[in-house]
Amino acid sequence: MSLDQLDAQGRLRHLLTLEGLPRQTLLRLLDRAEALRPHAFGGTALRGALAGTALCTLFFEPSTRTRSSFWLAAQRLGADVLNFDASTSSTSKGETAADTLRNLEAMGVRGFVVRHREDGAVAALATAAAPGTVLVNAGDGRSAHPTQGLLDMLTLRQAKGADFARLKVLIVGDVKHSRVARSDLHALRTLGAGEIRVCGPRTLLPEDPATLAGCTVGHDLDAALEGVDAVMMLRLQRERMQEGLVASLEEYHRDYGLTAARLRRAAPDAVVLHPGPMNRGVEITDEVADGPQSRILQQVGNGVAVRMAVLEALLAA
Ligand code: ASP
Repeated sequence: MSLDQLDAQGRLRHLLTLEGLPRQTLLRLLDRAEALRPHAFGGTALRGALAGTALCTLFFEPSTRTRSSFWLAAQRLGADVLNFDASTSSTSKGETAADTLRNLEAMGVRGFVVRHREDGAVAALATAAAPGTVLVNAGDGRSAHPTQGLLDMLTLRQAKGADFARLKVLIVGDVKHSRVARSDLHALRTLGAGEIRVCGPRTLLPEDPATLAGCTVGHDLDAALEGVDAVMMLRLQRERMQEGLVASLEEYHRDYGLTAARLRRAAPDAVVLHPGPMNRGVEITDEVADGPQSRILQQVGNGVAVRMAVLEALLAA
């Protein structure tokens, strides 16, 4: 971790990664998100929490779920929310991200939710920020997507209970390019998941051994699915991929696509997660994505509550 996310009292100053965050911090955020769920989908009861606080969603890469849910979360807490979109801003005239941040700080913006294509870009911006400015990493390159990791843990906990030691969790697919997989792995380790399996083609698993430390790694999806309690599917990140890592989408689907027939190898009550956007018919079939074991839309709903909990922890006085 390049910058300390916690202050001397152990409070969150920024949320850049789940790596190294104490278990208690993760559990507090998950408990708070659970408590906030009734407020995530409507109502005005919490509008006072961040009233008068300005927040900006600063996105240098596309987003559907993350940006919308941060936006809603901030509004439910009464913040003033600004949206910055790199494609329609002075970024296209060559302004640096740090200058953009400082200009928005000069307008009184205190919180920034940042997505960037480069690994470490959000931590770098945090070092350029004024004291008192808070940053939340909404996905940097392939490094981390901490709020996705948290909402995935909340969804697992709702489905399977709080004892992660009892769980066998399987992560499938393009781990190499996935910031979601990294944040999930950080959280699963900290929460003490009983077994973490990772399955994908050799070309799509990370070369750095530390990323998969403690995981059971395999390349045969049918074998990896045997008896697992949760299957976390990943999108093929074609925008981050060199040519040739996957022979064809058809072959990928044949070997690593989750079908209803394959899913029967998992525990009967196993749940299926996917961070979205899905490549339907590639890593997951419609019957699984829309089937009874899918928790994919529950993940999306949990995203609002988790982001409320994070914004509140960082910005409420
Ligand atoms: N939406 C997630 C992310 O931004 C997952 C994905 O794009 O595959 O990392």
